Amino acid sequence: MSEITEHFDVIIVGTGAGGGTLAHTLAPSGKRILLLERGDFLPRQTDNWDPRPVFVDGKYISADTWYDGDGEPFQPQVHYFVGGATKLYGAALYRLRPEDFGELQHADGPSPAWPLDYDDFEPWYTRAEWLYQVHGAHGEDPTEGHWSKQYPWPAVSHEPRVQEISDALAAGGYHPYHAPCGVLLDEADRPRSTCIRCATCDGYPCLVHAKSDAETIAVRPVLDRDNITLLVNAEVERLETDPAGRTVTGVVVSRNGQREVYGADIVAVCAGAANSARILLRSASGRHPAGLANGSDQVGRNYMFHNSKAVVALGKEDNHTVFQKTLALNDFYFAGNGRDWPLGNIQMLGKSNAMAMKGEEPKLTKLAPRWSLDEVARHAVDFWLTTEDVPKPGNRVTVDSGGAIHVAYTPTNDKEADGLYRELRKVLNHVGLSEHHVLDKNFYMSMNVPIAGCAHQAGTCRFGTDPATSVLDVNCKAHELDNLYVVDTSFFPSIGAVNPALTAMANAIRVGEQLLDRMA
Ligand SMILES: Cc1cc2nc3c(=O)[nH]c(=O)nc-3n(C[C@H](O)[C@H](O)[C@H](O)COP(=O)(O)OP(=O)(O)OC[C@H]3O[C@@H](n4cnc5c(N)ncnc54)[C@H](O)[C@@H]3O)c2cc1C
Repeated sequence: MSEITEHFDVIIVGTGAGGGTLAHTLAPSGKRILLLERGDFLPRQTDNWDPRPVFVDGKYISADTWYDGDGEPFQPQVHYFVGGATKLYGAALYRLRPEDFGELQHADGPSPAWPLDYDDFEPWYTRAEWLYQVHGAHGEDPTEGHWSKQYPWPAVSHEPRVQEISDALAAGGYHPYHAPCGVLLDEADRPRSTCIRCATCDGYPCLVHAKSDAETIAVRPVLDRDNITLLVNAEVERLETDPAGRTVTGVVVSRNGQREVYGADIVAVCAGAANSARILLRSASGRHPAGLANGSDQVGRNYMFHNSKAVVALGKEDNHTVFQKTLALNDFYFAGNGRDWPLGNIQMLGKSNAMAMKGEEPKLTKLAPRWSLDEVARHAVDFWLTTEDVPKPGNRVTVDSGGAIHVAYTPTNDKEADGLYRELRKVLNHVGLSEHHVLDKNFYMSMNVPIAGCAHQAGTCRFGTDPATSVLDVNCKAHELDNLYVVDTSFFPSIGAVNPALTAMANAIRVGEQLLDRMA
């Protein structure tokens, strides 16, 4: 066993949606907590809001090389910063539907039931919505579950073009609703608002810290406490256990070229679905030959990241919308009404601009030959389509002898994703856009290299009641260890068809409260 540099009550590995929220939940207890973050603080600079460095140069995509199932290298869209992927996320903070917690049949197989149901999660969703200052309107979307408390802030208002689309959808018999957004915005008293409703929310870092990301909301507010220590540029390499293999005794860190080993009574790995699996797999030992907590051979398996599509519809009239992510539609979320399968969620995306579209120029100029790129962007209306991908054991993260991540992934539910796209095209005809003027928006979330667009990665350490088929118990503690928890999107047994971050945040609060009880 390695010599321990310092011992804490709790070590949290990673400071994103899961780890940051967990730290925020545990901090008031006074317990000594060490946060280990592989990245640094994301610098606040004008580039934060500039589409060229963000989308063309990929300035905030962290350097890392992963390999696909054929061993081909690719650069994943990962963001190693304090706040993790939430530094770049769109802050669309959705709850799963109640049915997502049960078993649902899909074109490519079942989406399994969770060991807990929506009612179990509801109080934690409410806590997460209030912590992350979500704007929305519970009650508008007919597919949503019950809620115990309205959102803390009213829905972000639609700009005129989006309002027209919403009205046209409602007139056509659809059920549009206000998308839940995590922004520090006070529309009733704008001068007091941190958020200026700019176009650079989705996929950009927020220069003025007005996006409800994990750094701004969860980590920074606890950093001045004496019981919290944050080490940045501290990459956790592996975990060591006692001889019995039941207790994590050492967290091995590479920091500034030095090897350091920290100890804690409780260790929570929250490094994101691929990297959490990587840490466990790299921690193989005599007691855990296939990787830590991996007696079930489930660590790394069931990797999911949604079958998603970003599209741009080009309308005849100008679209002057600045903050476009205010509208969503769940009319096709479930099977029924002539649909054999659940298709998923449609929401609006951050507004395209000419610079970000540069890579799409050849296709764009074919669709609108007489328009300049600026004109194309001015006419663009942007949509994000999310279809659930179902967990498959063969879709998995493994680690090679050098510690590099390999992702073997075969897409699922293409049939459903195609169905959702067809529904979108019908929708467009209802709202004054044409189904014939639609193109893929590949620059968003690295969608031109599908496997690299791992923004919604989940599922590699699923929770469950059966140690033979799951890695974690219902409290997200590893079945095989007494003090190891995994508290990020890894725990998802299925991913539903809405963005995952709110569920990771709600779960981190849930697990955090359970840990407070345990430590008390
Ligand atoms: C462009 C983009 C847009 C998105 N938009 C949305 C959206 O609108 N709504 C939504 O719900 N979701 C969105 N997402 C997804 C959302 O951000 C993630 O689902 C969420 O952040 C996952 O939380 P996590 O805790 O699992 O991982 P992360 O938030 O990524 O946190 C993992 C942390 O662990 C750190 N880490 C990794 N390895 C190590 C290691 N070995 N040692 C120490 N630290 C380590 C990382 O640096 C990171 O800080 C988006 C993501 C992206 C990239």
